[in-house]
This record gives sequence, structure tokens and C-alpha cells, in this order.
Amino acid sequence: MGDATPGSGCMRSASGQFNVVLWGIGHTNAHILRQWARSPIPGGRLTCVSDFSTFAYSGMLSGVLAGQYAQERMEADLCRLCDAAGARLVVGEVIALRVADQRLEVRGHPPIAFDLLSIGIGSIPAHSGVPWGNDVLGFKPLQTFNERLDRRLREVGPQLDGRPLKAAVIGGGAGGIEVAFCLPRRVQALLGDVGLDLSLIDSHAEIGNGLHGGTVRRVRREFEARGVDVRTGRHVVRAGGGVVEVDGGERIEADLIIGVTGPAPPPILGSLGLPTDAKGFLQTRSTLQTTADAPIFAVGDTGTIENAPASKAGVYAVRQGPILWENLVRLRDGRPLVTYKPQRRFLKLLNTGDGRAIAEYIGLSFRGRWCWLLKDFIDRRFMDQYQ
Ligand SMILES: Cc1cc2nc3c(=O)[nH]c(=O)nc-3n(C[C@H](O)[C@H](O)[C@H](O)COP(=O)(O)OP(=O)(O)OC[C@H]3O[C@@H](n4cnc5c(N)ncnc54)[C@H](O)[C@@H]3O)c2cc1C
Repeated sequence: MGDATPGSGCMRSASGQFNVVLWGIGHTNAHILRQWARSPIPGGRLTCVSDFSTFAYSGMLSGVLAGQYAQERMEADLCRLCDAAGARLVVGEVIALRVADQRLEVRGHPPIAFDLLSIGIGSIPAHSGVPWGNDVLGFKPLQTFNERLDRRLREVGPQLDGRPLKAAVIGGGAGGIEVAFCLPRRVQALLGDVGLDLSLIDSHAEIGNGLHGGTVRRVRREFEARGVDVRTGRHVVRAGGGVVEVDGGERIEADLIIGVTGPAPPPILGSLGLPTDAKGFLQTRSTLQTTADAPIFAVGDTGTIENAPASKAGVYAVRQGPILWENLVRLRDGRPLVTYKPQRRFLKLLNTGDGRAIAEYIGLSFRGRWCWLLKDFIDRRFMDQYQ
């Protein structure tokens, strides 16, 4: 927490109740729900609005792919969490936000009044206008990714006729790297002993954008040993219909195409009437409150702090949880808000899907079984809070 700055725009509803609405239950808003279950704000009412009745944890997705966890381990049941907190859960599609009236509109539901709103609907894979066919599996919604992947594998499996499955992962950031490491186990679990020709495609000159050179070298060595075809400096211009086409006309055939690009803002953010950054994420102060004069916060991937933009990562979203809780209470009491400072360094752990992981911390990288045990411990501990 940092310096205090004044909050703005909090008006108690006519009922005298303090209505807190969480739109999107991800890494940050889930903390509020948990905190509320422990010690609800007196006179407060909590409403959660979500597109799914579960919250899915991206950190464990690679482990589910690799068969290290069951699907349920990466999910938390929002009905149960809301029950425990005495909160109302509305599962549905938000169609509008009326900022001045402090109302959120959900299709087929009476408008939801709020005294404080926290928007944390995450991000979506970016493909900047590049057409993606229906057969391209995007990561979001995360809740349905494995189901969609399995369906696709069951479709293409019988057509292989003895030849290897061709798979292309678009996006060579940390997420795409983990998918490329862990996908083979899922393919094997579903299709048995088929061969797999796996390509990892990235527009940057090198994979692992944001990772340290030593980590990238370890990742490269591992891919080489596994025969993964890493194609860098390839800007995808079209994907779908069994082909990934990159600029220059190169065509990579693939039975399975997975897009792990991003993050980009969910389109609805552009229609809310709230200030956005150049990419379209909601602009916030360092208190996480949007720069609009309204009691609205934007957290996790959804928000970008003006003058201090950090990359979008779950570790930041998690650390914002306690700050959001503090500011929610302070805004209600009319006290100055506290500020959030993104940590400069954090531990990065990449699951290699074979009972080991690659770790990076302050420029040093490691690889081994202990790295996986550490990742497993951290991820289990995080999800245990919600399961
Ligand atoms: C494969 C992969 C692996 C990753 N691994 C890591 C990692 O190891 N470490 C790390 O720090 N970061 C990781 N990330 C990044 C991390 O997932 C995000 O930064 C993080 O999820 C952001 O948290 P959030 O709460 O903003 O959004 P989310 O966790 O995405 O939560 C948003 C929630 O809002 C809901 N929602 C979405 N749209 C709507 C809507 N319109 N209405 C209602 N609800 C909605 C969603 O269902 C979801 O529950 C990974 C990303 C990917 C794709």
C-alpha cells in the first residue's frame, strides 16, 4: 500500500444499505468474496455478477492439460462461495452500465444498483483484427477450454488415419510455452499413441517475451529435445480451416490450432462510458478506482493504472485483492484511499508437463523437479482458499 489519495463519488443507496457489486469473479474480486465471508461489511450487501457459475484459475490449466490435476482442481464453485459469504450470485450477460445512475444491467434481470462496483472481467486473446476461424481454440472462456479442446481432438482423431496430429500454438509467451509443453499429454490421453507434430508460432524475434535470456534458452533446449517446431518472427495474418497463414505467404497446416495470444480488452469495456487506455482497458488511478468520477474500480487484467502500467498477469491481480478490500471499506467510510504499487519482481514458473518446471527469479533461471513442486504448492495453496 502507498500514499493516501481521496476517493470520490460514493453515495449510499436510498435503502441505507451499502451495495457492493463485483462484476467478473477473477483473481482480485474473488478475494473480496472470501473476505466478505470472513467479516462482511456491516449494513453491506454483496452481489456477484458472473458469466459462469465457476471461477477458473489459469495457473493450473497447464497441469490439467498434462494430466497432473483434474479439471475440478482449477475451478471454484461460485454458488458455494457466494452462499458462504451471504452474497447474491447473478449468472448472466451484462448488457449495459449506467454510470450516472449507478446501475448494472444484466440481460433478463432487473437492473442491479450499486454504491460500489468492481469490474474484473479479465482479458481475451488478442488477434488484432486477424480473422480466426471457428476451429481456432481461443483460451477464453477458460472455464470451457479443456472441453472445447477435447471435442476438437475427438473430431480430428478418427480422421488421422495413422498420420501424426498436426497442432499449432499461436503465441509464444509464457502461456503458449506452457501449452506447448503440456498439450502432448492431453493428446495422448485422448487419442492414444498418435504422433504429434507441434509448432509454436510467435511474431516476436524470440519466444518468451518478457522472460530472461537464460530462461528462454532453457525453454528452447527443452523444445528442441521434444521436437517442437518453434517459428519466430512470423506474424499470423489468418488462422482457421486447418491452416495458419503468416505474412510472406507461408502456410502451416494444422488439425488443431490454439491461440494463446493476448491479452486484449473484452469488447464490452469500450461501451461502458468509462475512460480507457490506448488499448481499450479501463484506465484507473493507483487506487484501482477508475479515472471516471464514480465509485467504480477496475482490477486485474481489466484495469490499467495510469502512469504505471504493468504487464497483465495473475500475480498482479492477486496482490490487488487486499488493496481493493481496503479501498472498498475506506470509500464507504469516506476515508482517503490507499494506493497499489505493482511489485517489480516476481517468481515465474513454467510447467514443462513432465513433473518438472522452469523457474525464473531476479534474472536467474532454474529447472528441475523442485521447481514443479514449488509451483504445485503455490497453485494448490491458492485454490485451497476457494475450494
Ligand atoms: C494459459 C495461461 C496461463 C497463465 N498463467 C499465468 C501464471 O502462471 N501466472 C500469472 O501471473 N499469470 C498467468 N496468466 C495470466 C493470468 O491468467 C491473468 O493475468 C489473470 O487471469 C487475470 O486475472 P483477472 O482476475 O483479471 O481475470 P480472470 O482470472 O480471467 O477472471 C475474470 C473473470 O471474469 C469472468 N468474466 C469474463 N467476462 C465476463 C463478463 N462479460 N461478465 C461477467 N463475468 C465475466 C470470467 O469468467 C472470469 O471468471 C496466464 C494466462 C494464460 C492464458
